[in-house]
Amino acid sequence: MDDPVNDRNVTQALRRGFLGRCPCCGEGRLFGRFLKTVPACTTCGQPIDACHRADDAPPYFTMLLVGHLTVPMMLAMQMETRLPDIAYLAIWLPVTGLLALALLQPIKGAVVGLQWALRMHGFETPHADPIQVPQSAAMGLGTASTLPGRPGLGTGGAVT
Ligand SMILES: [Zn+2]
Repeated sequence: MDDPVNDRNVTQALRRGFLGRCPCCGEGRLFGRFLKTVPACTTCGQPIDACHRADDAPPYFTMLLVGHLTVPMMLAMQMETRLPDIAYLAIWLPVTGLLALALLQPIKGAVVGLQWALRMHGFETPHADPIQVPQSAAMGLGTASTLPGRPGLGTGGAVT
């Protein structure tokens, strides 16, 4: 009984999300932009953006991980070397910032994957019964005028 839609493997979903792939099929992209998830997977149709509630969890886990990686290295370097304080800042501020930026998207992807695997929030139903997503939004071509509740910006004509 191998049903990839209804059998949700937590480890696999975490890995797929971490790699920026749809937690359901592992093929479609999870992110349209840096931290903006796609409305739905373009491969399997799994609704994503309206279903997850990652909220503050990705930055929290990113700070937790980056802090636990960089602080011991900073302390070890400070005990082993005799550099001026400005040198430590010049080394560790960019390392810390770049590491946080590098990990934020994968960690958000893993959080979304975990929520999918645990059927949290909007992921509780199999996507065989998906939330209706406008085709243009699902393709990542959505514009403000095609989204419900967001009127278009106008084209400059037909002003009454
Ligand atoms: Zn998919």
